[in-house]
Amino acid sequence: MAVVDPVLWQRIIQQVVASGGNFIRPWFTKLEPISLEHGLLEIQVPGAREQEYCRRHVTRLFTEAAQAGTGRLVGVCFLTSAENTTVPPDGAEVLVEDTPTDARWAPYNEDYTFKAFINGPSNRLARAACLAISESPGKTYNPLFIHGSVGLGKTHLLQATCHEIARTTPGANISYLSCETFVNHFIEAVERGQLHEFRYRYRHADILVIDDIQFLSDHERTQEEFFHTFNTLYQSQKQIILSCDRGPAQIPGLEERLISRFNWGLVARIDRPCYETRVAIVRTKARLRDIELPEEVICFIAGKIDSNIRELEGAIAKVAMLAQVCDRPIDLPLAEEALGADPVATRREITIEDILNAVTSRFNVRLADLQSKKRSRSIAFPRQICMYLARNLTRHSLEEIGGYFGGRDHTTVLHANRTIDKRRGQDAQFQATLDLLAQEIQANGAGV
Ligand code: ADP
Ligand code: MG
Repeated sequence: MAVVDPVLWQRIIQQVVASGGNFIRPWFTKLEPISLEHGLLEIQVPGAREQEYCRRHVTRLFTEAAQAGTGRLVGVCFLTSAENTTVPPDGAEVLVEDTPTDARWAPYNEDYTFKAFINGPSNRLARAACLAISESPGKTYNPLFIHGSVGLGKTHLLQATCHEIARTTPGANISYLSCETFVNHFIEAVERGQLHEFRYRYRHADILVIDDIQFLSDHERTQEEFFHTFNTLYQSQKQIILSCDRGPAQIPGLEERLISRFNWGLVARIDRPCYETRVAIVRTKARLRDIELPEEVICFIAGKIDSNIRELEGAIAKVAMLAQVCDRPIDLPLAEEALGADPVATRREITIEDILNAVTSRFNVRLADLQSKKRSRSIAFPRQICMYLARNLTRHSLEEIGGYFGGRDHTTVLHANRTIDKRRGQDAQFQATLDLLAQEIQANGAGV
């Protein structure tokens, strides 16, 4: 088997770091090249969840880097250690596969604990409420509604609460799931005539935790079902915890009676972390991953990235990856190389204009048509792609995105998002085109 030249791997990773933008994840440092032969670069990933992520989001990124590095038409594939059964050359340890394959049923992340969650002014109330609930579920704040924009720790807090309750109250029936899963379960239950089982399952939970409840906005029947689930649990003093990317009243298309119930207990907002909190987070995350960061590098990263914590983690990963592949110590020059020395140039947010520019030139459509009422497929399709990209790459709300495209409402944007997501899952070539577009937009947005 052709072992991958470390210098080549270094080059590939450097390119990935340079052009990967927000797609870089902390565990990328654990990626290992397995082999390069017959035009295929095999890369080992830590587990099934990471494999799914790589396949969906960074195949194109790695393929381009591999092709640039080798100067050949190379494909890339991501394997878990279980799939990579070949004995490693020097007897190195094979990573044990420990991630469940169906993340939908086992969505816990072991790292999401209270201990690993840094307390700061931006998240104090939400954290305190979660801690109080984990001590006496159903008795303090019910429901607890946590909201804040993406990457600020909602999922982390929700899961930390579940971990803690599972630890202190063995046998408690905890249902933690994303709202999307709840919606899908409901639809499946209706289709299969299994509503009874569905109701039994959710209405007998001791603790029901639903992440990203904004997903209810477009689903009237599920809202109705959720309303009854909520009432049943609430009346029997079972704990309900919800997270959302906005406050209850801002969720588009949400029934009034649900909005009012979401406000019955405690509504806690999480804001962007301040500099001091970011410093503490970078320090903790690096320590958790056994990455030694000098103080000046910690401050540099915390000063440079102020939007969300997932991006902070991505930045740590980039620095660590660069140090690893270049076999250099982590210092300020290396961090500047990995993240770019000029904060303004690298931090510009992606705008809808960036997306429009990329899509109009790729699909050869006019901007005016995308923003018109025209519904012909040659225009509606690129418009849906724009909406999908805007939803996934910018912070704009559904209404704002709809507004950019001929004053359409949020349900049209949600529909576009789902249509494109579905096709993406079914059509590998389409997925590659989309990924490429997203990377182009990110590279431009990052000023690279
Ligand atoms: P959200 O659900 O709000 O989009 P997540 O809970 O997924 O955000 O958080 C994104 C990442 O940031 C996670 O890896 C999480 O561990 C980390 N994170 C967020 N807030 C904190 C915090 N206060 N302390 C430590 N890590 C945090
Ligand atoms: Mg989340």
